[in-house]
Amino acid sequence: MRIGVLAVQGDVREHLNALERLGVAAMPVLKPGDLAGLKGIVLPGGESTAMWRLMQATGLAEALKRELSGGLPAFGTCAGMILLAKRITNWKETFLGLLDIAVERNATGRQVDSFEERLSVDGLGEVPAVFIRAPLVVEVGPGVEVLARWAGRPVLVRQGRILAASFHPELTQDTRVHEYFLSVCRKE
Ligand code: GLN
Repeated sequence: MRIGVLAVQGDVREHLNALERLGVAAMPVLKPGDLAGLKGIVLPGGESTAMWRLMQATGLAEALKRELSGGLPAFGTCAGMILLAKRITNWKETFLGLLDIAVERNATGRQVDSFEERLSVDGLGEVPAVFIRAPLVVEVGPGVEVLARWAGRPVLVRQGRILAASFHPELTQDTRVHEYFLSVCRKE
């Protein structure tokens, strides 16, 4: 099974490593043609605004939106969650706008305010989670399942084939959230 990792900016290598540890062929995605043959795509942490600008310049923004609308499974972490969200409460634009949640960018503060927590994830048990300038979900639509919360706020959500985390599972050695995403991709 071939899984892509959006590779224009952000912590691409960490996601490729996590996927490789799970035995799938993980491919960096830099241009529209790289989307061919993928069974799923990971949108990494980084800087959502920078990623979007770079994706627009190559046509990848449009091509990815088309693939995701057509049912390609996606897993966004942190900036990736922001790229997927339908609404961003403190930013002037939205990006892919396919996941029915509203997020507040940088809601956990600055880089120096980063922290690690253990979260209780539905069906997975306790999972370590690193939060870095994390978005928090402030609204979820009716079709969105909340799989984990931190401080009462949803931090891992799923809407059909789209999974999104406020935190960075790729920065820990625990691959269960990636494994969960692969189970979504296998069903397609
Ligand atoms: N603040 C970043 C953004 O808005 C996300 C931070 C992260 O991915 N660690 O894109």
